[in-house]
Amino acid sequence: MTKMKREAIDEFFRRLAAANPAPQTELEYDTPYQLLVAVVLSAQATDKSVNIATRRLFAAAPTPEAMITLGEDGVAEHIKTIGLFRNKAKNTVALSRMLLERHGGEVPANRDALEALPGVGRKTANVVLNTVFRQPVMAVDTHIFRVSNRTGLAPGKDVLEVEHALMKRVPKTYLLDAHHWLILHGRYTCTARKPDCVACCVRDLCNFRDKTA
Ligand code: SF4
Repeated sequence: MTKMKREAIDEFFRRLAAANPAPQTELEYDTPYQLLVAVVLSAQATDKSVNIATRRLFAAAPTPEAMITLGEDGVAEHIKTIGLFRNKAKNTVALSRMLLERHGGEVPANRDALEALPGVGRKTANVVLNTVFRQPVMAVDTHIFRVSNRTGLAPGKDVLEVEHALMKRVPKTYLLDAHHWLILHGRYTCTARKPDCVACCVRDLCNFRDKTA
């Protein structure tokens, strides 16, 4: 894969930013705690399916205290439409308990503290640090991994390699929102099976060899 040149990367993000100046996560939440839970629930599930489940879940248990009271079985009942729901229910209650015990019920703005929570890995921590605390970090999911490799923006053989490449190659001005632009581009245009290269606003900058006609 040919790597994208510096000027092309600038233009790539200039266009994504022009098309969507204030990109947002598609997960629904009212508080940092709710975003954290929604991201934990979103592993191997679509944001759409998570939103349907969390509308019910957060109405019943909007806070860590309420989540503990609801208990594992109660949480599972609300989220049973999404994959791995039993394990996710267990982690949701356990992380709520740990938030209360260690952080007074607040979501910590710190990677190590976040990754110590049950069910929270590097990607989830990065989403929370970026979306809630506006830290310029990159949570590489399946969409960002694909777009980064296909286009030549930040090629890498695994998510960590792509994350490091993006941190180096994305211009500082765009770093804070790059995560959302790349996810949305991968979700709606540069899709896994049939990318919509004809309608793609960065077609001329992209180095993918098999662009669709
Ligand atoms: S041209 Fe095609 S492969 Fe390249 S970024 Fe756009 S949709 Fe993806």
